[in-house]
Amino acid sequence: MLTVFFDYQGIVHHEFQQQSSTITADSYLGVLRRLREAIRQKRPKLWRRKSWILHHDNAPAHTDLKISKFLQDHSTSVFPQPPYSPNLAPCDFFIFGKLNKKVKGSEISEHRRDQSGIEEGHEGDPENSLPEIFEEYYGGANDNFKGFFDTSKIPNYVQPNFYNVQFFTGHGDFNTYLFRIGKIGSPACSCGNEQQTPEHLLIDCPLTSDLREENQLYLTNTKQAACNKDQYIKFNRFCRMHILRRKR
Ligand SMILES: [Zn+2]
Repeated sequence: MLTVFFDYQGIVHHEFQQQSSTITADSYLGVLRRLREAIRQKRPKLWRRKSWILHHDNAPAHTDLKISKFLQDHSTSVFPQPPYSPNLAPCDFFIFGKLNKKVKGSEISEHRRDQSGIEEGHEGDPENSLPEIFEEYYGGANDNFKGFFDTSKIPNYVQPNFYNVQFFTGHGDFNTYLFRIGKIGSPACSCGNEQQTPEHLLIDCPLTSDLREENQLYLTNTKQAACNKDQYIKFNRFCRMHILRRKR
């Protein structure tokens, strides 16, 4: 089993577990200690400013009391992972697709090969084949995602980022989603529309019409959002502006 930590610049720390061993709170504590050391060495600026944030999922070993205490003692900020959101896991975009390609055709027991695959494939460059990874992701994607793309042929200019991924997946700062995970009491939009979905905000919400005009983004369906590069740039600006405005 492979444990890997990465940021937008590439892999920060990875280690292989013994075959058929499982991650416990105790073993994860060791992993986190080594991760901290790796951050200190490989991301000295972030380390000095204490400006790094840890994102891991809600696996029992990660949420164990020992782990929470360790993170608290070291003032480590943890990025909240919404429940029931496996398709928000950044690994799906950045690691697994590419890794599978590397490993395909080689025996799992060829331990060395897996390891070198990781080093070669990821150190310093998580970006090159993102459209490919998007394509692999397409098969298992939710309907919201499929509403943006006719086929799994995702154009090269489409690159996931913090803002557009929320619109593509529907998992993000939208009332329909926040309602579904129990954070708010109603899925309605403040304009009165029954559902505040990405589609509603993009196409017909009166409260976002100023952003549509500012970006010259006039869509009649979500498939048009990324149908050409021009349109995609406008769509991206819209996503960013809308989400930043919501935060205020
Ligand atoms: Zn609305």
